[in-house]
Amino acid sequence: MTHATDISKLGTGTQLTLVGRNTKDQHGFVNPPLYKGSTVIHSTLHSLENKGGRFFYGTAGTPSIENLENAWNHLTGAAGTVLSPSGLGSIALVMLSVVKTGDHILISDSVYQPTRHLCDVVLAKFKVSIEYYDPLIGVGIEKLIRPNTSLIFLESPGSQTMEIQDIPGIAKVARKHGVKTVLDNTWATPLFFKAHAHGVDISIEAGTKYVGGHSDLLLGLTSANAECFPALRRTYETFSMMPGAEDCMAALKGLRYLQLRVKEAERKALYLAKWLETRPEVVKVLHPALEGSPGHEYWVRDFEGSTGVFTILLREGFSRKNFEAMLEKTTVFKLGFSWGSYESLLTTVNPTSYRTATTWDHKGAAVRLQIGMEDLEDLQRDLELAFERLTAPPNARL
Ligand SMILES: *Cc1c(COP(=O)(O)O)cnc(C)c1O
Repeated sequence: MTHATDISKLGTGTQLTLVGRNTKDQHGFVNPPLYKGSTVIHSTLHSLENKGGRFFYGTAGTPSIENLENAWNHLTGAAGTVLSPSGLGSIALVMLSVVKTGDHILISDSVYQPTRHLCDVVLAKFKVSIEYYDPLIGVGIEKLIRPNTSLIFLESPGSQTMEIQDIPGIAKVARKHGVKTVLDNTWATPLFFKAHAHGVDISIEAGTKYVGGHSDLLLGLTSANAECFPALRRTYETFSMMPGAEDCMAALKGLRYLQLRVKEAERKALYLAKWLETRPEVVKVLHPALEGSPGHEYWVRDFEGSTGVFTILLREGFSRKNFEAMLEKTTVFKLGFSWGSYESLLTTVNPTSYRTATTWDHKGAAVRLQIGMEDLEDLQRDLELAFERLTAPPNARL
């Protein structure tokens, strides 16, 4: 529904059922129709020459795209949203909207690796000076700001290593110096962290993860406050890189029960994370809702929940053969990238290979878990058997 102000007092679950559709405009059908199109017919020359009407050409918007933009504005409290064909596409778009040649930008050392690659390979080519900072630096970031600093990029929690950042603190310092803040909020989603209410200028969600929820969608959503939205929108329209109508529809479907899915992921991930803390094979569990996880105090202060992705650090000394057997022979968990879908996944984590501003002291292996919709008992049993293979004697048949 487009009457955002009417529904904002309702509960989140209710709002998720109402956003991005308007039954009255849809001949009574519950869901909006799919609009695919390039040409829009104008009935007057005046309209044609002035790009009149609500829509004037496919790249400038369609009802299918607008429905999802409206829904996301509503959920994020943003002044405006633009969509991209992937999460990484959103990150690239934001960089091109905010950063120019000669600028200095600050990027959290914990960012999603392809974000780092984008900075080091593409932005560096345009003579942008890129500086990585310790994700736990907090308001100490002020010392790194230079006269030509234009952007601070945050990701909280950080991909793989799960540090929660002092987002309001950093946002306040940035604002004081006229620097824009950009947050990759994919893990928490707007349900568990309200980026703009905490002072963030531009917030990015890889819709590929929880919004899609089925490993069948690539999508990015970028929301901005009133100050940053016009430049973002101009950049978006200049590049004309947008998702197809079917993908917008899939994202709207994912939104309908997003709350149910993240809460279920939260419940099971927390249970497993606490159990994993008691395992002798595990040195540490990096899960923002657990005490001792980096930046946990900021999570307590700023977040309304946790989702289903976290990392475990294994004790040193297991053989490669046992480690492979641990991860390859699971029956419920599978090896694979991405997360936020209904199936549980494992990936290995190796921050030493790419970090530059902080050191990674852990010597053993690290594994990231994505908790899906399977039953808790099956997930736990799968991990128990995985640990048996990890700790099996050298001659054991695995
Ligand atoms: C997956 C991911 C992205 C990129 O999303 P894609 O749609 O796969 O390009 C960006 N940020 C984070 C934190 C992610 O996990």
